[in-house]
Amino acid sequence: MAPPPDLPPFPQALSSRPPTAAAAETPIAPPVLRARGLSKVYGTGDAAVAALRDVDLDIVAGEFMVLLGPSGSGKSTLLNLLGGLDRPSSGELTFEDHRLSEAGDDALTRYRREHVGFVFQFYNLIPSLTVAENVALVTDIASHPMPVDEALALVALTPRRDHFPSQLSGGEQQRVAIARAIAKQPQLLLCDEPTGALDYATGKLVLDVIARINRELGTTAVVITHNAAIAGMADRVVRLADGRIASIERPARRLTPAELSW
Ligand code: ADP
Repeated sequence: MAPPPDLPPFPQALSSRPPTAAAAETPIAPPVLRARGLSKVYGTGDAAVAALRDVDLDIVAGEFMVLLGPSGSGKSTLLNLLGGLDRPSSGELTFEDHRLSEAGDDALTRYRREHVGFVFQFYNLIPSLTVAENVALVTDIASHPMPVDEALALVALTPRRDHFPSQLSGGEQQRVAIARAIAKQPQLLLCDEPTGALDYATGKLVLDVIARINRELGTTAVVITHNAAIAGMADRVVRLADGRIASIERPARRLTPAELSW
């Protein structure tokens, strides 16, 4: 299959909004993702829900960011916008120099296919396909994939490559989902409650895999959790409350999953 063409040209003009306090928290390196005044309203009229309100955020290549906040604070909405699964109601979102906020459906599909790996709470594997076949679904359509067996080795599942999802534990299924997400060698790994359905020890194993991918492959990782202990793994911790960024913190030292307890 011919590799898909590059993203089509996007309007290049960047925001003229002045930098804000949240932007000032940002490290020096140029951001891979840049949000300004990002808002999302679901529904209209009396039924309108403002899920995200005027969010300014820069995400730097290679960083490990944790999004914390109570249920309903806008974490999934923000992750979905960053991953091109949805469009903001207003505001600007750029990936490198591409304006995602104004991208059409085809361009967003290409963005997701080429640049973003998703991991969700429930693993979304195809039950009738083996582990290796589930990963190959992605490598078959990506333009610069890693070999399936390399992705499986990264999550320590080589011996299970010919097993079906029903033959694996929850943690192993989540590791397959991570292998599938990273096999296309995305710049971004976006994880929505990746340990939400796992027990303590298994959750730590899965976090360890995500941390290792971030460290060893340099993949920028954004992880949603409601578990504040996981924030200790992050380069930066963004707390959301009521659709707004309540704080951005930089832990003094990035902990390994083994050092976390909850
Ligand atoms: P979190 O991930 O922090 O739990 P969400 O981003 O899922 O929060 O939701 C933020 C708010 O937006 C909540 O009030 C939620 O009910 C609302 N919301 C999310 N998705 C939709 C939708 N598709 N339609 C209407 N409201 C939604």
